[in-house]
Amino acid sequence: MAQIVLKTGRERPIQQRHPWVFSGAIETVRGNPADGGVVDVLGPDGAWLARGFWSGRSQIRLRIATWEAAQPLDERWLREAVARAVRGRASLMGDGETACRLVFSEADGLPGLIVDRYGPHLIIQLLTQGMAARADAVIAALVALLQPRGIYERSDPEIGEKEGLPAHEGQRWGEAPPERLTLRPIALPGMCGERPALLADLRGGQKTGFYLDQAINRARVGAYCRGAEVLDAFAYTGGFSVYAARAGAAALTLIDSSGPALALARANLDLNGLAIPAELIEGDVFRVLRQYRATGRRFDVIILDPPKFAHSQAQVERAARGYKDINLLALQLLRPGGLLATFSCSGLVSADLFQKIVFGAALDARRDVQIVERFTQSPDHPVLLSFPESDYLKGLLCRVW
Ligand code: SAH
Repeated sequence: MAQIVLKTGRERPIQQRHPWVFSGAIETVRGNPADGGVVDVLGPDGAWLARGFWSGRSQIRLRIATWEAAQPLDERWLREAVARAVRGRASLMGDGETACRLVFSEADGLPGLIVDRYGPHLIIQLLTQGMAARADAVIAALVALLQPRGIYERSDPEIGEKEGLPAHEGQRWGEAPPERLTLRPIALPGMCGERPALLADLRGGQKTGFYLDQAINRARVGAYCRGAEVLDAFAYTGGFSVYAARAGAAALTLIDSSGPALALARANLDLNGLAIPAELIEGDVFRVLRQYRATGRRFDVIILDPPKFAHSQAQVERAARGYKDINLLALQLLRPGGLLATFSCSGLVSADLFQKIVFGAALDARRDVQIVERFTQSPDHPVLLSFPESDYLKGLLCRVW
């Protein structure tokens, strides 16, 4: 088996079960590993540390999958790891229409594998050489464990490029998902109340069709919207708006740059029989919010759920300015006592930095701002303690005076 030996001083993160070996941490490579092949990691003293999958063209040269010397990374290992991930979501699964992330990559010990369940359909992403090379075994494991109606692959091409993987997309097993699939988001165990039905376009929509990671936050934020005039900025298919309307919001304004997403948002409001006044605006949030400020438009609740602004360390500063800009605008548009639900899904922007950015915006807006709730990603996107990178979504619910 191929081996790598780590440089002196670079073994500590691996001993602490961080699953990435960067190219700069490697002293020697022995045995000419193939992309996706299994490689053992040795410390500078030659001691066995871990075992993982090789990615010859990525800065992250190796993704570790086990810290047990006796554990082979074979099909049985894969099946058992997927089964464990599924078991961990048992209390979230609900009925047959439930949409839930079943496998969250490194956080579930399966680096590079994402599996999202949308009722009977699975959408998978194979984002590393290791997983791409094991596509057949992944599909076999999912079929054996879950008996889905179909498995469709939508691997993120941006991540694939860093790995040197060609774009991957298409039906991998069974039936194709319908153009508009009806899903039920997860709810927290013990959280009662009926879950709304939402439509998603699994093949044409963003990500794997739906932002599963906001499931619990939509319910939490929605609960504050009774009687409120709500602005849902970066609305996508209207997930937050549907919860807000169900909780008795007085009026909704949705903004998104994607026309097809807004068409689904309208369908989602209709599907839930929510005949409240809803204005859907296809446009740039930055521009529309500036217009509202100029014209004196005001809201009681504003939701800001922008896309990832920081894709690399070099982009963090620019991202911070973007976050500050929209948060400042939103603060200026809130009536006294109103609520701002503000999110960042940039893993490189820490919760601490994000709070500082919102603080900066509050100072500039000359508003008193109180944090009344803090949000994180839904429990089907667990954070692995040894892999802080899996902790990426943060949000604040702020009362603004
Ligand atoms: N809140 C949504 C998810 C938002 S994802 C939900 O609950 O499902 C981010 C969204 O922002 C995407 O729908 C994308 O189309 C949109 N978007 C990105 N940049 C934008 C911009 N500058 N103005 C308006 N919308 C934008």
